[in-house]
Amino acid sequence: MEEKHNHEHQHEHNHNESCECCHGEHNHSDGCGCGHDHAHEELNKKDFAFKVITGGVLLVAGYIMSELTERGIADIPSFVYLLCFGISYLIVGFDIIKEAIEGIIHGNFFNENFLMGIASVGAFAVGEYVEGCAVVFLFTIGEFLQSLAVQRSRKSIKDMLELKPQAVTVVCDGEEKIVSPEEVSVGDIMIVKPGEKLDLDGKIVEGNAEVDMKALTGESIPASKGVGDTVLAGSVILDGAVKVEATKEYKDSTVSKILEMLENSEEKKSHAEQFITRFARIYTPIVCLAALLIVIVPPLFFGQDWSEWIYRGLSVLIVSCPCALVISIPLSFFAGIGACSKEGILVKGGNFLEALAKADTAVFDKTGTVTSGKFEYVSCECYHCHCTDKNQHRELLGIIAGCERFSTHPLAKSINLAFGHYSDNMEIKDAKNYPGKGVSAVVDGVKYYVGNEKLMREVGIEFAETKLIGTAVYCCSETEFMGNIVFADIIRQDSKDAIACLKKDGVSMTVMLTGDNEEIANDIASKAGIDVVYSKLMPDEKAHKVEELQAQGRNVLYTGDGINDAPVIAQADLGIAMGGAGSDVAVEASDMVIMGDSLSKIAIGRRIARKTTRIVHENIIFSLAVKILIIIGCTIGIFDENAMWLAVFSDVGVCLIAIANSLRAMRVSKRDRKV
Ligand code: ADP
Ligand code: MG
Repeated sequence: MEEKHNHEHQHEHNHNESCECCHGEHNHSDGCGCGHDHAHEELNKKDFAFKVITGGVLLVAGYIMSELTERGIADIPSFVYLLCFGISYLIVGFDIIKEAIEGIIHGNFFNENFLMGIASVGAFAVGEYVEGCAVVFLFTIGEFLQSLAVQRSRKSIKDMLELKPQAVTVVCDGEEKIVSPEEVSVGDIMIVKPGEKLDLDGKIVEGNAEVDMKALTGESIPASKGVGDTVLAGSVILDGAVKVEATKEYKDSTVSKILEMLENSEEKKSHAEQFITRFARIYTPIVCLAALLIVIVPPLFFGQDWSEWIYRGLSVLIVSCPCALVISIPLSFFAGIGACSKEGILVKGGNFLEALAKADTAVFDKTGTVTSGKFEYVSCECYHCHCTDKNQHRELLGIIAGCERFSTHPLAKSINLAFGHYSDNMEIKDAKNYPGKGVSAVVDGVKYYVGNEKLMREVGIEFAETKLIGTAVYCCSETEFMGNIVFADIIRQDSKDAIACLKKDGVSMTVMLTGDNEEIANDIASKAGIDVVYSKLMPDEKAHKVEELQAQGRNVLYTGDGINDAPVIAQADLGIAMGGAGSDVAVEASDMVIMGDSLSKIAIGRRIARKTTRIVHENIIFSLAVKILIIIGCTIGIFDENAMWLAVFSDVGVCLIAIANSLRAMRVSKRDRKV
């Protein structure tokens, strides 16, 4: 009940966060449109202050009067201080009792409010008025501090991302106009000056600049971007003013996607969270039963003092409140996810963070993952004109580039970068993609196939396999073999270190899957330090390999670039997409996205994930241990008349300590970052 309450609260808070645009330096008449009551949080604080001050004053006044009377210093009629206690209790405890009753009505008996309600009413019943008031008083303060801590940490996680939208300068009828990001539509030209942040994804149409994408990719080295390049929302233009044509609306832009993902990540409950929810459902009734037995059994069967044992039972009830776990565990995961975002790693839920920590087998796609995906031209053989000088192969290169024009495969991109201009005057129709094999298209009225040996065999054309080592792209028409180009795939700079680091951190097996040929695959794998290689695989065969590994009881994380490997990403226990910034498909299909272009981020993410799960375990063990000790102490009576006080303080204290511990997951140390 209380947990739900908190949740709603945070949601509102999140809203506050994401619509901060409307009370910044620029005021838009239409407001932020979130329809949310911004005064709400303020109101809550006032409410809290009123309760605590009036309740506290009455409690202290009552306490002083009762003490004075008891010690014979003054003679105050008992109804006066009883009235003080009663009113104090009603003011502070009203909401607790109300929520406890609401819980009962909704069939949800066993929650913190219920425990605290019974304990405080019980204390009154046995004449422990001060304790009864103190229980609700401290519980209220504790709850408030907890939700404050949770809110603060959520806010700082979001601030950490520094992705809050600003104002956008657009060119409108030749004039510069400042508008909110939501008002910009696709095709508008935005002016971004040095030091400014881009709020919408777009394409540079004028000027060039150094662009810092740290907020997105966690990569601190700026990239040079010029006319025609894509720039993503969240990037900062360091020098040089540029004009950028918006290619997406604000709500579809990268930043909004990231924030949305961060918010949705809360819905994907981790196993630890699910465990706690289930645990609380069993734990709380058991505790209530135990407390009841403590109250009944000794007086009834062993002639003990009733009020003494009622007091002990009530103390047990108070201390066993599970709020430390209910609050700190989701917070830990949220903090861990936040830390990952800061590094340019998007994790779509606590469960995936857990999967990352647990993974013992790391499987990689080759092209664009272990390798950079930027192929280098090696050679070209033309069977059409029979000569080897590439300048004379304009026709073949043009046909190949033409067929690849619409493909998103890294090979296609490299081909178009190198030879795209040869196909400028060609008319391309009916472009078709054969995942894991290649493409076909009608170029100037003739149908051509461009791809690997498999595709050539499928077309049924006799072709000559190249002797050169590299990734060969063959080309044929329906009747004639045209020739090939050979490309060399370059291993990423950090692949070797990243893989070594994963192995050091407990990944026992590394595997590379590729549709490419064996020699290349073995070469790249040995350079990267990967143990096992499977080559010449089709996308569905890659998924089967992952399934086989899972059948051996392995926890598999798979990393690919999202091109031709969506089924594998889906099959793995954790599907990771590389180079996610900008590629929507990969972002949608995966459980985790590496925004930048570096494999090391997986190792870094895994360290964060392991730290987060460790913190969660620490919190579970710590709070249960303290609670069990105090429960035992209360039961055997070693705390005497201080038991109830101790119970309240330890409950609130444990909870705050657990929260503070959770927040450690937010920090990424230099050592965590070192690969
Ligand atoms: P990888 O497993 O290395 O990521 P893919 O599964 O994407 O590779 O593709 C496997 C093979 O299919 C590539 O090595 C290439 O030979 C061929 N191929 C795929 N797409 C294309 C394309 N657009 N153009 C040419 N060849 C392609
Ligand atoms: Mg691939």
